[in-house]
Formats: sequence, structure tokens, C-alpha cells
Amino acid sequence: MLRRGRFAPTPSGQLHIGNAFTALCSWLQIRQAGGQFLLRIEDIDKLRSRPALAEQMQEDLQWLGLDWDEGPGIGGPFGPYEQSRRELLYDKALERLKADGLTYPCYCSRADLARIASAPHGLSSEGEAYPGLCRHLTDEERRAKEAVKTPSLRFRMPDDPISFVDGITGTQTYGAETLGDFVVKRADGMFSYQLAVTVDDSAMGITDVLRGSDLLDSTPRQLALYGALGRKPPRFSHIPLLVDADGNRFSKRDKSLSLTALRAEGVAPERLSGLIGYLAGWLDHLEPVPAQALIPRFHTKRLNKRLIPVSGEQLRWLRSR
Ligand code: GLU
Repeated sequence: MLRRGRFAPTPSGQLHIGNAFTALCSWLQIRQAGGQFLLRIEDIDKLRSRPALAEQMQEDLQWLGLDWDEGPGIGGPFGPYEQSRRELLYDKALERLKADGLTYPCYCSRADLARIASAPHGLSSEGEAYPGLCRHLTDEERRAKEAVKTPSLRFRMPDDPISFVDGITGTQTYGAETLGDFVVKRADGMFSYQLAVTVDDSAMGITDVLRGSDLLDSTPRQLALYGALGRKPPRFSHIPLLVDADGNRFSKRDKSLSLTALRAEGVAPERLSGLIGYLAGWLDHLEPVPAQALIPRFHTKRLNKRLIPVSGEQLRWLRSR
């Protein structure tokens, strides 16, 4: 079967070296397999997304040596490749979930949820597990709440634990109590990441999702959606996050380590791909190596951990000429 993978950035900031690591790994996995790679811009949150950043991201990825068979601008059979232009598809999926009784309106505000101190600690990508307050409201209670607040819509998670085999971190099992019912459409009308990404990966025929381990705990939620929508899930692999010498994740706020800043500084892209290749265990020592040359060397054997530290010395090497 032809394998299909993707990189799916949110254009709310500049790509940083952690994003480059994810993009490169997902690209290498698919290029090594002779599959098709696509770029999808996850701009569903219109307030946080900037078209100029989406353009810049594409230039940054090309600078790094990546290419894609389908994506914004070049198109492809499963377009559009921007989430902001795919809302009809999300709506259709939501209608199906609703018709099957798998959603319910939720009137809780963030403040309400924050007050429930006893809520079990949920998982990082979604925050606290929702304790199900609005799951069993009577029609009468719903009508009363409806009069004062526009609800969000939550997906009813199955009560059974969800297990899957991650391509890198192995078998993962999540009990229903750690997951909770999650929002599929916010009160302001925005579709959630979980719904949009599931609909898109499925509609775009993605066979391999490779992404950062910060999204590991989104996977059981997305698997529940695949099940509810009657679609076959892809294989998921979650790679470690890069962290600095103090153990902090690189973030879109660290402007000096953005790909755009490195480019402007005159850093050679082969240095960044070489550094990543070294951190991932594909190279024995730090050396500039173009992305293309890493295709035969890619493997995930040494990626079975949550974090990879990047030292100050390695960052200095990256920026040296
Ligand atoms: N858009 C998400 C992000 O930028 C990634 C989604 C995914 O790979 O599933 O973090």
C-alpha cells in the first residue's frame, strides 16, 4: 500500500527547531518508504493564524530541503490543504456524530471547570479531563441553561479504555477517566483540533501520522473519533520533543531559534538537518548533512523517549560557519 504522511503546522508563530525536527522526521519516514508527503496548514483558529506565517513556513521548510507532493499552492486530489477552507467537511462529520447521539451540549464555562478542584488531572494536550457535568442533563435543565448561555458541543468518549500501539513508544493505554468528553465545537462556532485533524487525516488518506509526543494523548481521542465516524485510523508515531539545556521546550516564542531567524543569520540548512540527524542518532558526529542525504539513514530506534536535550554547545555549532 502506498504510504501517505503529512506535516500539519499551525501558522500562529514561526517554525522553530523543534518543529523542524518533527517536519524532517515525518518527511524522512515517507520519503524512505517511497510514499507521498503532504503539507496541511492548520489554520482553523482564525484569530491565532496568520496567512503570512503560513507562507513563511513553506519557505522555511523548502530551505530545510523538504518537498511535498500535495499542499497549499500546488493543490492535489484531496484539497483544499488549509483547514480554514474545509469547514463543510467538519460540519458533515459533526452532523453524523450528532445524529448518532455521540455529542451533547455543554454549558460549563472555563471558570466553572477551574473551580472543580477535585477534577482528575487530565492529559496535557486537552487540559483537565472534563468531569461530565453536562453529560446527563435533563431536557428541562438544558432548556434553562440554553436561555443564558450558548453551549459548546462535547463528544461522548466511550467508557472503555483505549489502547493503541505507537510506532515509537509502543503500547499505550488510556483509561476513560483520564480522557473525559472533549469539545468538538466551541461555543463560538470553532471546530476543535481533535475533530478537524481526524476528519482531515482520514479524508486525505494519511496512513502514517508522525508528530511530537506532546500530542500523544490526543491520539486516544482521535481514535475514538475514527471509531465513531467509521473510518480506519492511520498508524501513529510520536517523537520526543527537543528541549534546551534547562529542559524547556523550544516554542514559537523563542524567535532567535526560529527557522526564519537562522536563515536570516546565514545558517546553512545542512547544519540544521545535520544537528537533527545527530540528535536522532542517525549520524555519529555533528556534521552538515542535507535532508535528502538522511533519507536512507532514517530510523526511530533511538527516539523512544519523551525529550531530547539540545546543549548550548550544539546550538553554537549550528550557528557557526
Ligand atoms: N497543528 C498541530 C500543531 O501545529 C499538529 C497537528 C498534528 O500533527 O496532529 O501542533
